Amino acid sequence: MIGAESADVVGIGTSPLTLMRAIRLAESGRRVLLADRSATMGGGWMAGSLLGFERVEIGAHLLENRLALMRCLEVDMGVPMKVDPSYSLINGRRAPMGLTRAAFHAAVAARALARREADKARRGLRSAWRTAISSAHLYKYPQEGAWGLLERLGQRFLAAGGIIRHGLDVREIRVENGQVSIMTDAGVMTARLALMSSRAWAPVMIDGEAEPVDVEHGMCWNAVLHIAGCGGSPLSYVEILGDPMLKRVRDIGEFARPAVAPGERLLVVQYRRDQSLDDRALGRRLAEGLAHVRLLECPGVLLAVARTDTPLSTLTDATLQRIAHRSGGRIETLETSDLAEGFVSAADRLQPLSPVA
Ligand SMILES: Cc1cc2nc3c(=O)[nH]c(=O)nc-3n(C[C@H](O)[C@H](O)[C@H](O)COP(=O)(O)OP(=O)(O)OC[C@H]3O[C@@H](n4cnc5c(N)ncnc54)[C@H](O)[C@@H]3O)c2cc1C
Repeated sequence: MIGAESADVVGIGTSPLTLMRAIRLAESGRRVLLADRSATMGGGWMAGSLLGFERVEIGAHLLENRLALMRCLEVDMGVPMKVDPSYSLINGRRAPMGLTRAAFHAAVAARALARREADKARRGLRSAWRTAISSAHLYKYPQEGAWGLLERLGQRFLAAGGIIRHGLDVREIRVENGQVSIMTDAGVMTARLALMSSRAWAPVMIDGEAEPVDVEHGMCWNAVLHIAGCGGSPLSYVEILGDPMLKRVRDIGEFARPAVAPGERLLVVQYRRDQSLDDRALGRRLAEGLAHVRLLECPGVLLAVARTDTPLSTLTDATLQRIAHRSGGRIETLETSDLAEGFVSAADRLQPLSPVA
């Protein structure tokens, strides 16, 4: 049991999105506690031990090239960044990231609209627009990859007095007479503010009534491949458009520890759907696909493969907005399912916490 623990702010999860907001709240004098049911920090940006390496990213990530996000990471949060020479691959041809990425977001929006997923369509259109107007800006990525990003944000949060509790599952958030109770698998905590995001959330009760939630369920299919003798020039992030199997790939060899041996590659590949193959057959199929689109000279020898498929349960923006509104300022919500769109800039929304009623 955690007993009758209390904090000014109790947040769910430890994704970079949540950490960035938690840092702001902690540095403005609030006692902030983050509860994460996972033993490892990072949420979708987790970078842990896999295939005998440390600091292995479980997904092929891209940071959108928004100036405000880059300034926040580089200048405010002190995350060392480097230019990310990412590009799109369309039917075997390289295209610059900016406008093709905007087209990609627009296509996601169109597909969502066709499926009558209005919230997702709105998010896609907003991302398409923002990406289009940012298309001239450089893409950047943390010098030490997702691990470096999390390390820097985590240290900064702890230095500001923040507390992280791993293995703690938030079962429900209750707001009653302006008082916030966080029901966890280890007891109840009280807070003045609860912080939750699109994929770090718990059912909410406000004054005895359960808040309805719209959840988008999905799956992000990923695998990490360790390959020898496949040739090809070093990659950063490649968005593969129009391929029946491959979606995106990032070469994560430079971030892994110990260093990947010369002639070997460590790649994280996102693919389109369940390929109904065992792990090795999947790894070989993905390596062949990468050779087919000429990102590798040949499939090489597959040394090891690990699936890092991630189920996604995403609250819609509309749900998050409604919960924030109905809670009367007792629940802060970070919208959207993407770091660039979801992060809250500098002093935004840092009004004093209202006292407990
Ligand atoms: C494979 C993959 C690739 C991605 N690629 C990109 C990318 O390229 N660019 C980008 O900007 N974003 C990317 N994202 C999205 C990004 O990682 C986040 O999912 C997004 O920013 C939303 O953050 P979040 O905090 O809501 O959720 P998440 O990052 O999913 O984190 C949720 C965290 O909360 C914890 N949690 C959830 N519910 C509870 C609960 N009730 N109690 C306790 N703990 C709980 C989980 O253990 C997890 O640690 C990717 C996500 C995935 C899964």
